[in-house]
Amino acid sequence: MLGKLKDISLSNWILIGMILGLLTGIILNFFVPDSFFKNIILVDNIFYLGGSLFIKLMRMLVVPLVFCSIVVGAASISDIRKIGSIGGRTIGIYLITTALAVTLALAIGMLIKPGAGLNMVAAAQSSNVTLNQTMTDTVLNMVPDNPLNALSNGDMIPVIIFGLLIGIILAKLKEETQIVSDFFSQGNRIMMEMTSIVMKFAPIGIFCLMARTFAGLGFEGLLPLGKYIICVLIGLAIQAFVVYPALLVIFTRLNPLKFFKKFFSVMFFAFSSSTSNATIPLNLEKLSELGVSKDVSSFTIPLGATINMDGTAIMQGVAVMFAAQAYGMDLGVTALLTVIFTAVMASIGTAGVPSVGLITLTMVFNSVGLPVQAIGIIFGIDHILDMFRTAVNVTGDAICTLIVSFKNKSLDVDVFNGNKKMDPANTVLLDDLDII
Ligand code: ASP
Repeated sequence: MLGKLKDISLSNWILIGMILGLLTGIILNFFVPDSFFKNIILVDNIFYLGGSLFIKLMRMLVVPLVFCSIVVGAASISDIRKIGSIGGRTIGIYLITTALAVTLALAIGMLIKPGAGLNMVAAAQSSNVTLNQTMTDTVLNMVPDNPLNALSNGDMIPVIIFGLLIGIILAKLKEETQIVSDFFSQGNRIMMEMTSIVMKFAPIGIFCLMARTFAGLGFEGLLPLGKYIICVLIGLAIQAFVVYPALLVIFTRLNPLKFFKKFFSVMFFAFSSSTSNATIPLNLEKLSELGVSKDVSSFTIPLGATINMDGTAIMQGVAVMFAAQAYGMDLGVTALLTVIFTAVMASIGTAGVPSVGLITLTMVFNSVGLPVQAIGIIFGIDHILDMFRTAVNVTGDAICTLIVSFKNKSLDVDVFNGNKKMDPANTVLLDDLDII
């Protein structure tokens, strides 16, 4: 019996943790009456502690893992033109997929009309969601004033830029900076090992996250916004299961089913945690198993967790149509184009953490003069949508990474197809020490 349990892979354990957590949460919500034990001890303490501890452990890994692997990756690529071409392609694909996602959402919103006939004024509550970031700030904030501050705040783009610069310089100076190169290689090795240890707790952490969420979820709030929720879910499903597989086939001819088979555990993780940022270590790990070179993924995945949020953009597109219809406002072509542009911009420069999409939605609403109060209505049910859209966000990052690494010949197609084991130098137990 024990031997059989040991044979179950970590991905399957994550799935088991998620399903058990979901069932436990639903049973507690519907069948167990409120009590001190249920509400305070179980949900607010045990599940909260288990879930939050796990997310904190994952977040603890992100900055040192990303920083070390970007330095090592950039140093090993060494050719600045190659880094430029990977960077340019990645950013290009990220922006295009996000623009596609908003457009899709706007179309679904026009077709299904989630806000038609809603008395927005009566239903509206005040929302205190604000956004202080302008577009110029977004660009300026990409360069760190103080790299140590960026590292300690976990600001991904400045961390990526600083890491890239150090890696490029290490490659240029070669033997002169060998000790520093070794330091980062070994740091990378340590962080990968730490990731594999923390990941062993994933099934329990995910169980707690799911149980707590579903034990406290107000399902009755979902009904009045049913059409809005359905529109967002349809958009997310089309993006994940039609647009991404199509892009994968068109650009790489790889089999999307093989991708999803391995990648589902990353989606489950993102779904349970609602944060792309905390999913970075697992995403990197799975892409290695899919044959992507770490040199590429260590750059594209953290970047994607920050600038590529297709799922979020879909929610925002639907929310725009919902609010416009509920308030009886007609959005012309210019307004729709503005929404697409602003939603793409909004996804750049904000970290992938829970509910951030709702905050940047203010920016999108402001750009076309939609009443920000409308956000108050969808506020209450956003958590459940956040889970679904985060799963799509991380899938988008992985698909773009596969395309970029395929185009840059950094993808081992045999490993992807399962015809060959992944290169040990590309795994968690990698030996990067002589990479430079
Ligand atoms: N939670 C999402 C993420 O981390 C962002 C959002 O849409 O709120 O990707």
